[in-house]
Amino acid sequence: MTQHECFWSVDSPPKTYPNKPLPENTDVVVIGGGFTGTSAALQLAKGGARVTLLEAESIGWGASSRNGGQALSCLHHTLEQSIKIHGRELAREMFQAAVQAANTVEQIVRDEKLDCDFVRCGNIEAASKPAHFEAFKREQDTLHEVAGFDVSILPKSAIRSELGTDSYFGLMVNPRSGSVQPAKFVQGMAFTAERAGADVHEGTRVLAIERVDSLDGTHFIVKTDRGIISSKEVVLAANAWIGNIAPQFRHRVLPVDSFVIATEPLPKELAKQLIPNNRVAYDTRNVLAYYRLSPDGRMVWGGEGTIKGASPKMNINILRRGMIKVFPELADLKIDYDWSGTIGITLDENTHAGRIDGMWYSMCYVGHGVTLATYMGRQLANAILGRESHNPFANLNIPRMPILRGNAWMENIGKTWYRLLDTIP
Ligand SMILES: Cc1cc2nc3c(=O)[nH]c(=O)nc-3n(C[C@H](O)[C@H](O)[C@H](O)COP(=O)(O)OP(=O)(O)OC[C@H]3O[C@@H](n4cnc5c(N)ncnc54)[C@H](O)[C@@H]3O)c2cc1C
Repeated sequence: MTQHECFWSVDSPPKTYPNKPLPENTDVVVIGGGFTGTSAALQLAKGGARVTLLEAESIGWGASSRNGGQALSCLHHTLEQSIKIHGRELAREMFQAAVQAANTVEQIVRDEKLDCDFVRCGNIEAASKPAHFEAFKREQDTLHEVAGFDVSILPKSAIRSELGTDSYFGLMVNPRSGSVQPAKFVQGMAFTAERAGADVHEGTRVLAIERVDSLDGTHFIVKTDRGIISSKEVVLAANAWIGNIAPQFRHRVLPVDSFVIATEPLPKELAKQLIPNNRVAYDTRNVLAYYRLSPDGRMVWGGEGTIKGASPKMNINILRRGMIKVFPELADLKIDYDWSGTIGITLDENTHAGRIDGMWYSMCYVGHGVTLATYMGRQLANAILGRESHNPFANLNIPRMPILRGNAWMENIGKTWYRLLDTIP
């Protein structure tokens, strides 16, 4: 029987934090206990700040413990697309942030000795259309020329050295990406943040934030369902739910659900045949599939245009069908787990980070948050600590999308439209 729960959390049951009173005041309140918030809290605590981390549910409850665990060393947009949107210099800066983001994950894992199965295995991008493979060739040149970054390209005839399928028109392999057990990673960051002095509170929902300007400077009154805290700084790390606490982002950040299944463990020889170099993978469709093997050899498969509000059975079938189309050998495998998680996206599909009305924020990593959220949490912390900080995602306009917000029908219609586009050769 399929268990409707996240495999990563079953594999690594969350540590709980003792229920203690909230402080009356602090230096920094961080709202949200995902990668962004725990990374910021860790860096702040190590930098000597009094930091209070508030998480409405439990550490990692949002997207951070439920994702595919692909620790990517790239952005959602290709560098070629990014140059068209942002210009060459800013696009290069953004790409470098993504490369540094993967390095940051590795550095935190090593420095804090986190047990989270991090491996620099590389990632595969699989061309779903011939034109996408042509775009890989251009991207390879652009990455080399603009960013000095090398990826390899495999034509259809060579795919089987990386993926045991004939479903694609070619592959691009980025050797700097990695894989991680995401629940272990986010819990590890929270735990080491606490060990470094961060005050971690689960089950504490922020209801409102009030800015107070006085002759002594600005501070914030953070109202929660467990009491009130006065803080010099606030970090908004609530991603998909940021609009609930910061109305500035309402109608600009759209919560979108993504669904995942995990099979029973594959026989070792089959696992080796399907993903010989144990890399993480995704395809180039608008409504894409992302997949990888878990450390214990399960196929973890997500995306595929599942339907918000549909029964788990229906979404499992959609994912299973997509998986078997690529790997027919998996047809008889049991689906042990299924789950979903929510990400925040903006219409421009960019990451956004910076300061708004005196508060710090970082959000919307478009499927690249394992690395980018961790990196940006650290960069916000550095800025608060008065250290050098790298943020190429500041000052980007966030387009408004009034109709879409939180509407399951609109989300499903949007996905259907993009799926239709995916069927055009
Ligand atoms: C199914 C799925 C698969 C994915 N796969 C990948 C992948 O393979 N690779 C990759 O890089 N990215 C992937 N992502 C995206 C990645 O998981 C996210 O970008 C990342 O986790 C965002 O981290 P975050 O800390 O900003 O947000 P979250 O992890 O969502 O954390 C936000 C937290 O804020 C808390 N919160 C919200 N409101 C309040 C409030 N009022 N008061 C207190 N707390 C509050 C929430 O409870 C939540 O825990 C995936 C996402 C999903 C859902």
